Amino acid sequence: MSRRPTAAILVTGSEILLGRTQDRNSGMLARSLDVHGIRLERIVAVDDREEHLRAALSDLLAGGYDLIVTSGGLGPTHDDRTVAIIAGVTGLELTLDEDALAEITAIVTGYAAQRNVPVQQLLPGARKQAMKPVGSHVISPAGTAPGLIIPGTSTIVVLPGPPTELADVWQRALTHEVMAPLLGTQLERRVLRIWNTPESTVARVFEELGGDDHGTETSICATRLEVEVVIRFAPAARPAGTALADGLITNFGDAVYAEDDRPVEVYVVDELERRGLTIACAESCTAGLVAARLASVPGASNVLRGGIVAYANDVKVEHVGVPTSIIETYGAVSAEVALALANGARRRLNSDIGVGVTGVAGPGGGSAEKPVGLVHLAVVGPHSTSQVLERRFPGDREAVRINSALAGLHLVRLLLQDVRLSADV
Ligand code: ATP
Repeated sequence: MSRRPTAAILVTGSEILLGRTQDRNSGMLARSLDVHGIRLERIVAVDDREEHLRAALSDLLAGGYDLIVTSGGLGPTHDDRTVAIIAGVTGLELTLDEDALAEITAIVTGYAAQRNVPVQQLLPGARKQAMKPVGSHVISPAGTAPGLIIPGTSTIVVLPGPPTELADVWQRALTHEVMAPLLGTQLERRVLRIWNTPESTVARVFEELGGDDHGTETSICATRLEVEVVIRFAPAARPAGTALADGLITNFGDAVYAEDDRPVEVYVVDELERRGLTIACAESCTAGLVAARLASVPGASNVLRGGIVAYANDVKVEHVGVPTSIIETYGAVSAEVALALANGARRRLNSDIGVGVTGVAGPGGGSAEKPVGLVHLAVVGPHSTSQVLERRFPGDREAVRINSALAGLHLVRLLLQDVRLSADV
């Protein structure tokens, strides 16, 4: 790949270093930089102490990146210091931007009226937020804090901390004319999501196909129950990117279940809707997580009939119709009970497809025969179609429950994929 512009991100905020706020900004910026052909080489997080901020900035400026993007510290109070520190480190004088002042004053006047506070109290903060290093460009605020683009050997883009504000101001900054020379050739992407396959197997096949030798940049990442392969390439390397993606698809066949970023629940809801099918769940150890993930998708009401949290055995029997004899013979955590839950959900809630989940989430309740993490899942559909899965998930209670819900959704997907239902169009 020809030389791409390089970038570093500086995330500021003591709350992030204290572990009280999870950094959401660098991930969003990283994805956006990648799309715009800019190679992100470093992410630095630093607390709000002046000397730490100054040192981090000097260090990044010495790194010679084409672009440095900062997040946070643009508020109206004395401890929001990012702009003043950048001015100090770059040796640029701070000056008042009259247009920015007018814009911020109008915004805070609106706030003051809404909250019934005297606007005079907010004006000093507005004035502080309208200060910029000489020669920099102001980007209109999404809240009250404008962003800045400071041209230089390293162009510095200064963004507010709140994630939605940062995203808005960043999008505006990208369209500013001074950013044009920094944006690389937009890379094309092929995304492949491979279900239930070890990451090492995917990596081996990738190497056998020639790896990134022909101008592609590929990341292979195992997330919960799936491996995501992202192949990125400039238009000139499209044949290599296409060959790599097609080679992986040929190798892994039906295990490649998606070629986009849609979470599995979106895929399932879309597919159910397309086929005019409905779904219901009876969940023991996941206690509604499968239904909740389906309900998180807009449009779920067209396909999701409902769910029963069947935690106690008598609830499984009375409310889902699981025969007592099955529980007594096989135990509550068994393939038979999972199947009975799925059938019961389908029958009791009058849906086309039923999902049943039962397992030992832990940390207690395990035995030699049924250890912590053991989960049985079943999905049943019309015409006696079904999918069952027994898995032993590693990790703590939360991990077992989340992975179980995800596995349940994948079973629905497999049922929809593998079985030609009569309702198919
Ligand atoms: P404000 O005007 O709100 O003070 P700011 O630009 O000064 O904006 P900060 O004070 O650094 O930004 O952060 C404001 C809030 O935004 C934080 O309390 C936090 O909730 C959120 N925030 C800041 N940085 C991040 C981040 N990297 N990831 C997620 N949330 C963040």
